[in-house]
Amino acid sequence: MPLNEFDLIARYFAGLTPARDDIRLGIGDDAAVVSVPPGHDLVIATDTLVAGVHFPPDTDPVAIGHKALAVNLSDLAAMGADPAWALLALTLPEADAAWLAAFAEGFGRLASESGIALIGGDTTRGPLTVTVTVHGRVPEGQALTRNGARPGDAIYVSGGLGAAAAALALREADADPDALQASRLRLDYPEPRLALGRALRGLASAAIDISDGLLADLGHLCQASGVGAEIDVDAVPRHPALTQLVRGDDTTWYDWPLAGGDDYELCFTVPDAAQSRIAAVAESTGIALTRIGEITPGEGLECRHADGSAFRPGAGGYQHFGP
Ligand code: ADP
Ligand code: MG
Repeated sequence: MPLNEFDLIARYFAGLTPARDDIRLGIGDDAAVVSVPPGHDLVIATDTLVAGVHFPPDTDPVAIGHKALAVNLSDLAAMGADPAWALLALTLPEADAAWLAAFAEGFGRLASESGIALIGGDTTRGPLTVTVTVHGRVPEGQALTRNGARPGDAIYVSGGLGAAAAALALREADADPDALQASRLRLDYPEPRLALGRALRGLASAAIDISDGLLADLGHLCQASGVGAEIDVDAVPRHPALTQLVRGDDTTWYDWPLAGGDDYELCFTVPDAAQSRIAAVAESTGIALTRIGEITPGEGLECRHADGSAFRPGAGGYQHFGP
């Protein structure tokens, strides 16, 4: 018997995610009701994944469930927010029970790990599209933003970049299978840097998550702050899988960490006075934090090699409607 919309919600989504004391009314009414504690700001973000655009059509539905929530949590991480509540708008070609169970598994697992509760959504028929809206909280006035970077601030990146882009580029290639698998995991199961974002409150002068490629996203941060940046491309941390995927003197590896996209690491700036606290943050979060350059007066990104010679990036980051 085909599932109707209400059976589907009851079976796969009601009760999927952790209960929270701050939810007065969750799934089932015309709208959800939550209470924001005094002294906090509400931080809200939404992101859509379209099949064939944001994930390859052969992607495991467990990964689609994970990624749809992860890319949204990454925005909360970049704002330094604690995740609280999520909405899920799901457009499905059909009510496929196996697909829904797998999707709910991926979504539910990450929601439980990050303490976010699904409090509502919408379910419609059409080409596969997943839109998630997340709500988080920060102590009043403490959200991290893109516009606080100042000349002289150091630029940091978390983790290692480029593996997700490599997975997309090398899907059909004859490359080291373990490294390909590791890259594919980065593409399908990004890890939102929530603990890092939280630890950067009151420390970073500006922050952004890297979804479209380091250079593109750092460019957005610089533009919002009215500053420029100088980057040492040899200092940019590349994901360990890239070392295995790149052969000999092939220099394509420069492009993936700089412009590849889908990394979901954080890029942030730190004033001189706070530099000494970075090592402790790396230690407490267990995430490598690498200094890749410095904010400059003026505008634009200048990329150099460690020896000072100029570097010309091959691509400018992924743009949906760009040339
Ligand atoms: P309405 O017609 O009033 O918009 P719906 O019939 O669309 O309400 O949804 C019924 C309830 O189920 C609402 O509380 C809504 O938030 C929730 N809901 C609908 N789709 C989803 C979904 N995919 N995940 C979680 N909750 C959902
Ligand atoms: Mg509705």
